Amino acid sequence: MNATKSAFVFLCVGIAGTAYPQTYALRAARLFDSTSGKVSAPGLVVVANGKIQAVGGAVPAGAEVIDLGDATLMPGFIDAHTHLTMDFDPNYNGAMLKALQMTIAEKSIRATVNARKTLMAGFTTVRDVGSSDFIDVGLRNAINTGMTPGPRMLVAVHALGGTGGHCDDQDSFRHGLFGHESGIEEGVVNTPDEARRAVRFNIKYGADVIKTCASGGVLSPTDDVDVPQLSQEELNGLVEEAHTLRRKTAAHAHGAEAAKRAIRAGIDSIEHGTFLDDEALRMMHDRGTFLVPTLTVRVGIAESRFPPLVQAKADAAMKQQDAMVKRAVALGVKIALGTDAAVFPHGENALEFAFMAVDGMSNAQALMAGTSSGAELLGLTDKVGALKPGMLADIVGVPGNPLDDIKVTQQVNFVMKDGVIYRNDRGGSKFQGH
Ligand SMILES: [Zn+2]
Repeated sequence: MNATKSAFVFLCVGIAGTAYPQTYALRAARLFDSTSGKVSAPGLVVVANGKIQAVGGAVPAGAEVIDLGDATLMPGFIDAHTHLTMDFDPNYNGAMLKALQMTIAEKSIRATVNARKTLMAGFTTVRDVGSSDFIDVGLRNAINTGMTPGPRMLVAVHALGGTGGHCDDQDSFRHGLFGHESGIEEGVVNTPDEARRAVRFNIKYGADVIKTCASGGVLSPTDDVDVPQLSQEELNGLVEEAHTLRRKTAAHAHGAEAAKRAIRAGIDSIEHGTFLDDEALRMMHDRGTFLVPTLTVRVGIAESRFPPLVQAKADAAMKQQDAMVKRAVALGVKIALGTDAAVFPHGENALEFAFMAVDGMSNAQALMAGTSSGAELLGLTDKVGALKPGMLADIVGVPGNPLDDIKVTQQVNFVMKDGVIYRNDRGGSKFQGH
């Protein structure tokens, strides 16, 4: 289908929303229950008005039957750590220059392409944890109003961190280049009160979730990856204010001390967690703090050309990641799937399922991390993450049985979001723009 025609068809579906007044009966050989981790056979899900009406039972009279054959119906996947407004680029220095040269309009258009790729890979919900220029807010709103296809997004606006830290976009550039020192509007805070104010600022301009950089990062050009970059008091202020305003919180933290501060402050998830020690993991287990491991970053890191300091940090981090996740699994820490998409190409998010399975999670546990556990972390258990009556009709199909072969999650062949079919490789879908 040519681009013009697919765009036209999408507009019919997305904006009018009335192209599918009928009831659907989705049939497949199997169905994955993300609550029990079990697969049952056969699979049948009845959808009407954008919601799941029934699971199992009989096909209602008048329903349009969509038979996926030897496939497994699953809840739409959830990625708790994306950056849809940024692009993967293996040329580190070139990418930095491009980010400074590109207009916000071009960045926004590119973001719509990333969103579409992510949806077509079966990810119907993402938590997008850090953007600039409010592009994430614009993209989320454009998706919600049907202007452009993409996953349901919870967005963070700018991630919040200290001066010169992983979230300070001015880091490594000469003083004065940007005309002013980065502050609250650019996500930089240096006192507990500034942290509170930045949370309020982000929420005022559209944040669904608050993201903070508690430690240094791998890809930031000058800091040490494991050092804490916010004080206990700053994190306390940030998390308390976010929770007061009914927003969940996520902390980028590679180092154990940074993570412990965030956990003590009541953070909802630790992102990456590369150098977590057993004490940090036990604290997470006891408090129910989620770990979001982002294992797929290795795919992009292996392809990239970094300056020496960044390469050394990347090498050190990659050596620790798997051992840390194995210990987290053994200790029973809650884990949600998150990838850090943009550090590798968008649309390859499902690689994370297989990496999780290599790190000691059963296939069922990995699948639950990307469905029911993701919904719990995002505070969306009444809407997504399970195939149950009353839930939003976010449903994907994978060939075969994902409990036998986790890699079938990389071959999604059917995608429905909010009851609208975006992908059906067996034909019959109204939108085939992938
Ligand atoms: Zn990230």
